[in-house]
Amino acid sequence: MFKKILIANRGEIALRIQRACRELGVKAVMVYSEADRDAKYIKLADESVCIGPAPSKDSYLNMPAIISAAEVTDAEAIHPGYGFLSENADFAERVEKSGFKFIGPTPESIRIMGDKVSAKQTMIKAGVPCVPGSEGALPDDAATIKRIAKQVGYPVIIKAAGGGGGRGMRVVHTEAALLHAVQTTKTEAGAAFGNPELYMEKFLQNPRHIEIQIMADQHRNAVWLGERDCSMQRRHQKVIEEAPAPGIPRKLIERIGERCVAAVKKMGYRGAGTFEFLFENGEFYFIEMNTRVQVEHPVTEWVTGVDVVRTQIMVAAGEKLPFVQRDIQIKGHSIECRINAEDPYKFTPSPGRITTWHTPGGPGVRVDSHIYANYFVPPNYDSMIGKIIVHGDTREQALARMRTALAETVVEGINTNIALHRELMVDAKFMDGGTNIHYLEEWLSKRIR
Ligand code: ADP
Repeated sequence: MFKKILIANRGEIALRIQRACRELGVKAVMVYSEADRDAKYIKLADESVCIGPAPSKDSYLNMPAIISAAEVTDAEAIHPGYGFLSENADFAERVEKSGFKFIGPTPESIRIMGDKVSAKQTMIKAGVPCVPGSEGALPDDAATIKRIAKQVGYPVIIKAAGGGGGRGMRVVHTEAALLHAVQTTKTEAGAAFGNPELYMEKFLQNPRHIEIQIMADQHRNAVWLGERDCSMQRRHQKVIEEAPAPGIPRKLIERIGERCVAAVKKMGYRGAGTFEFLFENGEFYFIEMNTRVQVEHPVTEWVTGVDVVRTQIMVAAGEKLPFVQRDIQIKGHSIECRINAEDPYKFTPSPGRITTWHTPGGPGVRVDSHIYANYFVPPNYDSMIGKIIVHGDTREQALARMRTALAETVVEGINTNIALHRELMVDAKFMDGGTNIHYLEEWLSKRIR
């Protein structure tokens, strides 16, 4: 096992990884920007290094600063968390070339999966079903683009090969709107991701977002850790996640889980990863793979008993997976609410000083957050300030626990979306389970203030 790990991230996930290090008896080096200087998890760290000013590009995206921090502190490995550099193949490569272990897959795996066109091609070869669409990247020529769209069938969605975080896609309903949409998306993709390449998919009308968590070691062992339902989204961003996915026959899930494991083995993938699918009319369609730990990993941890972050560190250190597929049994139900510093109606970010922070507790309640009273939420980063996760023997019990947990939570000084979660936890359709990816947006458009 490593003696010392550098955590190249901030906020709740930095604290989550720090906790895993403590449990493993590994020293944690935290890096931070000037905006995060006072964060408690920095004070709790074995060592910490300031890597630059508040803007991410000068700090959490500053590769040389992070690698020098690992050098001066004698860390052996770097955990990238999620977001920032976690899916940057060049970073993973520079980390390994500098003599550190990257806690994640190989740069090659990240590169293949980071390009959504090559990711889809890899999945098709591995026998994982994908959304019907263009074979590979869209060409430049207008007539061919029109012909592909006609073949796929409207509505179609134009997506950036380098896209992520719900950005870089556009739905097109008619041929008249097609070429303009392609051009706009291409310009945006070039500017936002440095890669103007596009592809096209059939736009599924009422799918659910179901994803499979996998974990693999360097010895070709791979296991899938059940599924998550992340259909409650706003602007393609997840708001609530749960495991298992309500109402989908286990047989169907098992079939797709096994396909994912086969694909992972074929690729020689190592570490944690997530296969994201759209699920419609009993069929799964692969959309992308995330080659890192995800925000919603706690719901998987709770229903499987597997510590995802701890296992990531163990396999990066070269250890074998401490479990096999038959050890993975899904127990009960888990739900996660993402708590964002934002207006619960208009969704404008709400950074600033938190005056009161009272977190919930009791049986089946977990809070993953770096927040405390008097903490200042900096305006520079993502608005998520923490997650409330619950577990129950049944989905009904998990829902009841989430309602209690949200009722106990008090955050003052800034706005949060807690009010939104309270409303959703008593919404009849959500309580029934199985809402599709458009449900939350439709609900919001009809919401009475
Ligand atoms: P990102 O990497 O930006 O998260 P994804 O490819 O994972 O992009 O898509 C994010 C979300 O966009 C999905 O969860 C879904 O809500 C929607 N989406 C993507 N592709 C399609 C599609 N073919 N049909 C319908 N919705 C889609």
